[in-house]
This record gives sequence, structure tokens and C-alpha cells, in this order.
Amino acid sequence: MEKGKKKKNLLKVVFFLPFLVSPFLLNLFILFLIFLQPFLSYASESNSTPRDLKTIVIDPGHGGSDKGGEGRDGILEKDIALQISMSLKKKIADKMKLNVVVTRDKDYDVPLEKRVTIANAGNGDLFISIHTGSAHSDELSGIGIYYLDYEGVGNESGEINAGDIEDEKKDVEVILKDMARSDYVNEGARLSELLQKNLTDIIPDQKIILKPAPISILKDVNMPSVLIEAGNITNNEDVKRLKDREYINKIADAILNSIKDYSGADEKGNLK
Ligand SMILES: [Zn+2]
Repeated sequence: MEKGKKKKNLLKVVFFLPFLVSPFLLNLFILFLIFLQPFLSYASESNSTPRDLKTIVIDPGHGGSDKGGEGRDGILEKDIALQISMSLKKKIADKMKLNVVVTRDKDYDVPLEKRVTIANAGNGDLFISIHTGSAHSDELSGIGIYYLDYEGVGNESGEINAGDIEDEKKDVEVILKDMARSDYVNEGARLSELLQKNLTDIIPDQKIILKPAPISILKDVNMPSVLIEAGNITNNEDVKRLKDREYINKIADAILNSIKDYSGADEKGNLK
């Protein structure tokens, strides 16, 4: 966790102490927070650019015994995910000089919980999961950008009851987490829109679809998150693209440009 965040959290703790002493005040304040939450989320959304970035977490989907989707001629989702992720890792490190944490760097199994642990322990500022899509119909092509849908996230603050102080301390933590989470949700959606714009700029002849969804890995990481399906592995046209190194490179470039836009960095990747 960076210094600014620590200081902010400390301020929050000091601020909440008096409310922990009086259960009545605490309940009143919790109601106030619940009422205020949508406005606070809106405020954090409207002044969220530029954003300080230090560490980007890249999550190449699947790996090892988990092949992910499989396309014609034996092309595997796990291999494409790793190729895009490694290309992106190099670009971010070279051009933006940011730390990059990857949840895997070779072809091995990594369970979902392990991916979340790696991302959170690495203090990531953004979580980018890379996959390819598979569709029931092989007619479907295109890039999908998933971001966490706010409606899909459980809001535990609605379940608060009066109880002993210990429980109420936990309730305050839940509300603080909810507030942080709604910030992650807004920021994930903002990154998704930048991804859609940059992918359209670099790959104008490919369909690029925004997909809000309550995906658990996006929900479990303590940072804004997106999941990109770089093309449908069940579609022959998309498989042709995914086999082309130039296409892989373009996807990585579009993600890099989106991170630059997200952080407010200039063309050369220098953070302002
Ligand atoms: Zn996948």
C-alpha cells in the first residue's frame, strides 16, 4: 500500500473512533453513510483523473492443465493469453517504467484464489485479466471487455443490525470496504471505456463490446479490474487474427495506451 493510502486510512480510523464509543451515534452514522454512498462514489468518479499508478497486475488466464478455450488447429486460449500478457508486461515496464506483477509467466496451473492473493499481495493499482472468448455459435467474433457491474456486487451494508461494539466495528469496516469497492467499480468501468476507444483506434475492423458482469475474480481483487477477451477462439476469422503476432502486438499496444490515458501519462508514457 502506498503512503498516501495509509495516511488516508489512518485519518478514517481516527474519524470513526468516537462513533465506536456510542452505539447510537454509530448507527446514526452508518445510516448517514449508506445515504451518502452514491454521492461519494459520484464525487470520486468525477475527479479521478489523472490517477497515480505504480503497479499493474497482469493475469494471463488459465495455464497448465487448464487449457481454456480451444480453437481450430489446436490453438489454445492459455497460450494466447500468455503471449498477450508477456508482450504487455514488456511494454509497460519499458515505456511507462511501472512495476508489473504477473499471476503466471509460464504454462502452469494457477488457481483463481492464488491469482487474487498474488494481485492483492503485490499492491496492484490495476488488475488486467487476459483471455480469449468462446461462443456457442462459431459465427460470433469480436473483443469483449468485461468490467465489474455495480448491481452485481453484494452490498453488505444493507444487512447491518444493532449489536455489540465488536460487531459494529466490523460493520464500519464493511462500509469502508464497500466505499473503496464502489470506487474500484467506477474506475474499472472508466478503464473499460478507454480500452474500447484505444482498441477501436488500433483495430478498427474488429467488433469491440463492453460487457458489465459480476465476475468473481474482478470482485475479489482490491483494485480496479477488467477482463479482456482478445477475440473468440471458436471463430475462424478471430483465430486467424490471434495467430498473427502483429494482432497480439496491437492488442498489447491498445491496452498500454489505455493505461496511459487512465493515468494521465503523456504520449511517451511519462506520468505527469
Ligand atoms: Zn478464459
